[in-house]
Amino acid sequence: MREKLVVGNWKMNGGLASNARLLDRLTSEWQPSEGRSLAVCVPFPYLGQAQAALAATSIAWGAQNVSANAPGAFTGDVAAGMLVEFGCRYVLVGHSERRQIHGESDRDVAAKAAAALDARLTPIVCIGETLAERDAGSTEAVVMRQLRAVVDALGPKLQKIVLAYEPVWAIGTGRTATPSQAQDVHALLRAALARADAPDVRILYGGSVKAANAAALFAMSDVDGGLVGGASLDANEFLAIARA
Ligand code: PEP
Repeated sequence: MREKLVVGNWKMNGGLASNARLLDRLTSEWQPSEGRSLAVCVPFPYLGQAQAALAATSIAWGAQNVSANAPGAFTGDVAAGMLVEFGCRYVLVGHSERRQIHGESDRDVAAKAAAALDARLTPIVCIGETLAERDAGSTEAVVMRQLRAVVDALGPKLQKIVLAYEPVWAIGTGRTATPSQAQDVHALLRAALARADAPDVRILYGGSVKAANAAALFAMSDVDGGLVGGASLDANEFLAIARA
């Protein structure tokens, strides 16, 4: 049985005071239970704050990006080992905002996932098609190409990743994939993972997940939880999603 996982992606949001209020609500109100877990991926400067607030709780934390390189002359980058020092369990790689704004390629994303695994972090590998790609009928080809790069780079370590299917047209737009649209793609991904000897990799859905739609999405047989952007900044919404 795959454990359900809900991960908050704060993106480039937050501040020391508002983070403290949000983390306080999460730590006081989240009840750990078998079969489900919760994590937040915060901006780099707040990793120490997340570590201090969450270390004694069942809530995990992580970062939103990592360098594929070992420490050295890479100004502005952050190495996987540095995230480990801050107690991170997870790191997002290949979020569509990084692919689109920073030009990260499938190969870059796969290299970041490999660097994270080498440091014993769990990469949450994000893949998904744009609206133009969906409208052109290329959803399957796009997500399979993105997944293939990771499968080829990781070999047997593939089993240790978390995959997030995030249709780009659903991120931050308020336009969520229907549960059956999500399930259709998750089923394709599940079959591809099974062919690569990694049938138990969890596949999260991301894209305008809210308290109002989470239960229906998470009820799908191949949806193992959610990657939640905007709604993860609101304690009521995020807790309601996690409980769904
Ligand atoms: C995300 O940033 O990964 C995301 C899914 O954002 P949102 O929930 O705001 O669509």
